[in-house]
Amino acid sequence: EPLIIIKEVGRKYVIGSEIIHALKSVTLNINKGEFVALMGPSGSGKSTLMNILGCLDTPSKGEYILNGIHVSEMTENELAEVRNKEIGFVFQTFNLLPRASSLDNVSLPLVYAGVSKTERNERAYKALENVGLGNRVDHKPNELSGGQRQRVAVARALINNPSIILADEPTGNLDTRTSVEIMGLLEEIHLKGNTIILVTHEEDIAQHAHRIVRMRDGLIESDYPNEHIKKVS
Ligand code: ADP
Ligand code: ADP
Repeated sequence: EPLIIIKEVGRKYVIGSEIIHALKSVTLNINKGEFVALMGPSGSGKSTLMNILGCLDTPSKGEYILNGIHVSEMTENELAEVRNKEIGFVFQTFNLLPRASSLDNVSLPLVYAGVSKTERNERAYKALENVGLGNRVDHKPNELSGGQRQRVAVARALINNPSIILADEPTGNLDTRTSVEIMGLLEEIHLKGNTIILVTHEEDIAQHAHRIVRMRDGLIESDYPNEHIKKVS
C-alpha cells in the first residue's frame, strides 16, 4: 500500500458569500522512498495541499491516509500527535529558535516526544554530524550561514525518524551555490530511504526530484517521473 493516499481531496474556503475552491479534487499516491517535487503557479493550491499533507489542515472532502492512518477524520489533538510522529518540516525561513544552540534546536522535537535529556543530546549531536555540522553544535542561528541554518533545520526534521519530510521552498532564501548544497543534502537523505515532498518555484531545483507533480487551479495538471534527474555530486 502507498505511504500516502490522497483520494479526491477538496478544500474550500468560505469568505463571506464567496467560496474559494483551493483544491477541487486531488488524487495522489506516494510510495515510501519517493522524492517528489510539487510545482505550479502562485494560487494553484500547493500550500493548501502541503498543509493537508503535513496534518496542519484537513480536507473539506475526500480522504487522506498517511502510513495507514486515516487523517481526514481526525480531531485537532489527534492531528498534532500524527504531525509530531510522522512529519518532518523544512521551511524557507528555517524557523529555528534564535536564542537556542544548534543542539537545542535539533533536540526540541524529542522534548515533546518525552525522550530523556542524555538521549536527546546524543541523538541531536549525531543528527548534526550527519548534516556536516558536528563542529557547530553550540552555535546559535545568527552565528551560522544560511546554508548551515538550513542544515540545522534538516537535522531537526529528521530527528524523530518521520515517515515523510515536507520541504516548502527550502532553498528560497539561499544563494545558488548554497541551494545546490542543500539539494545535495536532500539527495543523501533520499538515498537513505526517506520520503521527501518538495515545493519549489524553481525548475532547476525541481529537477533534483524523481517525480514532478504540477498543479493548476486546484487540480493536478501533470504527474510524471523525472527522466533527467539532476545530481549534485
Ligand atoms: P499556492 O501555494 O499554490 O500559491 P494556495 O494553496 O496558497 O496556493 O492558494 C490556493 C487558493 O486558495 C488561492 O486562491 C488562495 O487565495 C486561496 N486560499 C489559500 N489559503 C486561504 C485561506 N486561509 N483563506 C482563504 N483563501 C485561501
Ligand atoms: P558561507 O561562506 O558558507 O556562506 P559564512 O561566510 O556566512 O558562510 O560563514 C563562514 C563561517 O563563519 C561559518 O562556518 C559560520 O559558522 C561562521 N560565522 C558566520 N557568521 C558568524 C557569526 N556572526 N558569529 C560566529 N560565527 C560566524
